[in-house]
Amino acid sequence: MRKSVLMVAGFLLASLPAAHAADKSLTFSKVDLKAANTLREQALADDTAWKLVESLTTEVGPRSAGSPGDAAAVAWAQREMKRLGFANVHSMEVTVPHWVRGEAQFSVLGPWPQSMPVLALGGSVGTGTEGLEREAVMVHDLAALGALPAGAVKDKIVFISNRMERKQDGGGYGPAVAIRAQGPSAAAALGAVGVVIRSVSTSNDRFPHTGALRYKPDVPRIPAFAVSNPDADALERQFASGKPVRLRMASTSRDLPPALSANVIGEIPGTDRASEIVILGAHLDSWDPGVGAIDDGAGVAITMGAAKAIGALGDRPRRTIRVVLFANEEFGTSGSQAYTAALQDQAAQHALGFEADFGAGPVWRLSSRVNDAQLPAVDQIFRALAPLKLARGNNEANGGADLDGLARLGMPLLSPDLDGTLYFDVHHTANDTLLKVDPAALRQSVAAFAVSAWLGAQYPGTWERVSATKPPRR
Ligand SMILES: [Zn+2]
Repeated sequence: MRKSVLMVAGFLLASLPAAHAADKSLTFSKVDLKAANTLREQALADDTAWKLVESLTTEVGPRSAGSPGDAAAVAWAQREMKRLGFANVHSMEVTVPHWVRGEAQFSVLGPWPQSMPVLALGGSVGTGTEGLEREAVMVHDLAALGALPAGAVKDKIVFISNRMERKQDGGGYGPAVAIRAQGPSAAAALGAVGVVIRSVSTSNDRFPHTGALRYKPDVPRIPAFAVSNPDADALERQFASGKPVRLRMASTSRDLPPALSANVIGEIPGTDRASEIVILGAHLDSWDPGVGAIDDGAGVAITMGAAKAIGALGDRPRRTIRVVLFANEEFGTSGSQAYTAALQDQAAQHALGFEADFGAGPVWRLSSRVNDAQLPAVDQIFRALAPLKLARGNNEANGGADLDGLARLGMPLLSPDLDGTLYFDVHHTANDTLLKVDPAALRQSVAAFAVSAWLGAQYPGTWERVSATKPPRR
């Protein structure tokens, strides 16, 4: 009861400034806007982020959950946060699943025999040493799979050949990724014994894309591979012959016991509103075939680079800037879940969230998910970003996978949207290397994050909680 009275009082206090959104008292001070300009220009000339992603990809490299690279990444992050002068650097232990890829081989046995490069999907079971040789059935999506007559895929391999669309906002990923996440169990439920998918990819090169599958608990776990777009096209031509297509899958993927990893956290402490946190999130883990440069070494570098730039200003921020490098985003968001669970009581102290998990930029748009009363503040931040040439996005931002839990608890989000046009060419492939990071785009991204996080921390009003009735789309 007492709690609800406090909540009502809090609501009234919080909503008072909203009624005067155009009020001078809610505009950023000249000093803060001048500092934002300084920050932007300094970030555009600074290579801290580049050096971080170079160091992480070279000295740590692949770092999938539970691997030796994962542990090395945690040590790397603690060391680098301390070197950059962050305060309160610490790690939060997280238990993560530990899946190992092993070796995978894939070939067409007929009508026209040949082998093709594959990657096992993350979490896939292996085939046993003898491998799996079966006739295959091709479908174009999950709906088509579900519409097959009973018994059509029983004891067969299913090839799902759904093509992803290239879009600047990455909007092609959501519809395409269902075949990877749900395809294996959907096929197994119909009696299939193996799955091969067309990679969730916009590239025409021959690198297959891995990524997590999600087995349903009540369905047999069957092995699942991805082939590249050109090989999926070639497979389609084999099926188009009208002759039976026989495939061979072999994989030594397996689960090991869960392992320990950690979220790594560091701060630029605030001043008069230090208990309010502006959180900048990225994930420290990566898939194993590449070195995780764009996913998510770039996000690690952007968030750390932005916080470092703010820390290097003469003025400390009012609210605390907190960088959280989350453990195991890729294979179940373990770090994000552990963070949200551990800090549930302090969820409301997370005043504003930023997530960088969509490559190395440039930032092309500023989106948000704030209460209407804070939209004028977002407009002012947008104006401070004008020299970076962004578009103004909508107020439907959903952050990313790691801040999803906090967003669902009402945390407002500001989203400097990273350009996703080329992202899914290399995402989750062996081709995710430092060469795919453009230093100028990375600097521009750091500038966009730094300016918006700084102004977010200086906002003279209250970042009101956002209604949970509109959860982020996932
Ligand atoms: Zn990622």
